[in-house]
Amino acid sequence: MLDIKITLTDQPKPLPDPNKLVFGRTFTDHMFLMNYQTGEGWHDARIVPYGPLPFDLSCMVFHYAQEIFEGMKAYRTAEGRVQLFRPVENARRFQSSCERMCIPEIPEDDFVQAVKTLVSVDQRWVPDQVGTSLYIRPFTIATDNGLGVHASHSYLFAVICCPVGAYYPEGLNPVKIYVENDDVRAVKGGTGYTKCGGNYAASIRAGERAEEQGFSQVLWLDGVHRKYIEEVGSMNVMFKIAGKVVTPQLTGSVLPGITRKSCLELMRDWGFEVEERLISAEELFEAAENGTLEEAWGTGTAAVVSPIGLLAWGDKKVTVSGGQIGHLTQRLYDTLTGIQWGTEPDPYGWIVPVE
Ligand SMILES: *Cc1c(COP(=O)(O)O)cnc(C)c1O
Repeated sequence: MLDIKITLTDQPKPLPDPNKLVFGRTFTDHMFLMNYQTGEGWHDARIVPYGPLPFDLSCMVFHYAQEIFEGMKAYRTAEGRVQLFRPVENARRFQSSCERMCIPEIPEDDFVQAVKTLVSVDQRWVPDQVGTSLYIRPFTIATDNGLGVHASHSYLFAVICCPVGAYYPEGLNPVKIYVENDDVRAVKGGTGYTKCGGNYAASIRAGERAEEQGFSQVLWLDGVHRKYIEEVGSMNVMFKIAGKVVTPQLTGSVLPGITRKSCLELMRDWGFEVEERLISAEELFEAAENGTLEEAWGTGTAAVVSPIGLLAWGDKKVTVSGGQIGHLTQRLYDTLTGIQWGTEPDPYGWIVPVE
């Protein structure tokens, strides 16, 4: 158990208009902070008023990107309760990211306690309009000052939160995606399975180019063979081909998404045959051309599921599910959001209430 010292702000901010919430712009009244020092371990767990912190410009994180993060949400039910979705999974993935990046781990219970306590202190910020939520961003940065590549001896773990609007204010809109042939997001042996800022830095150029050409995101291929599908943008990806569900296996360069895991568990429970295996772009486009590709969608905490309506690869272009959201994609969306916002029962024990 962390001993969290709480200092409440004497200037609580007015809540933003719940109908005009923009992702990642407005942060709540407080933040969670905790420091690490070699020899001392994690210490000084505290919740303080939200605000900027001073850093020396030689601070390690700015130069060598020893940094990891998580993304999760708190949901308000119709009865007014506030709840988290599978927070222990985020805590575990955070630990696995820590290990890869030589960052000292935080015990699972402490991670969940930090998140729960901050959300509880700032619970008036969890919006109650349909589809809205409080986005939670835990992260750790290396804070040693001075240049020179080595594992830092000091770190800051922080949690910040921002209210977010409905991802689909106008209903689930299928997106256009193309296969990225030049840039790769991650390689085996690298950091693809961690949530680190560096992975995102490497992915920005492809995302920008895709947008310039009128696509929402790219379909990433593996960095070794440039052949097998890995992810879509910063989401995991799934396909329904001839009645079976196929998703790229976790090879080390694919991020193990919690939405991915939840979708696979649901579909297996519903009796679908689900395959986690290598799937090449060639196989996917063949399936699209011979009519066996029934549905395609991305999965992630922000959107839950994102239906793919059009796939392009070089000069090939194929429409998926007639450009509409497929039945299974819709069922996954309805079930997951139902559990998250408490309008459907949670037979899996995925929901953790915030007291
Ligand atoms: C966070 C993330 C995902 C989705 O993970 P969830 O736990 O489902 O939110 C997928 N791919 C990448 C690269 C990510 O960073």
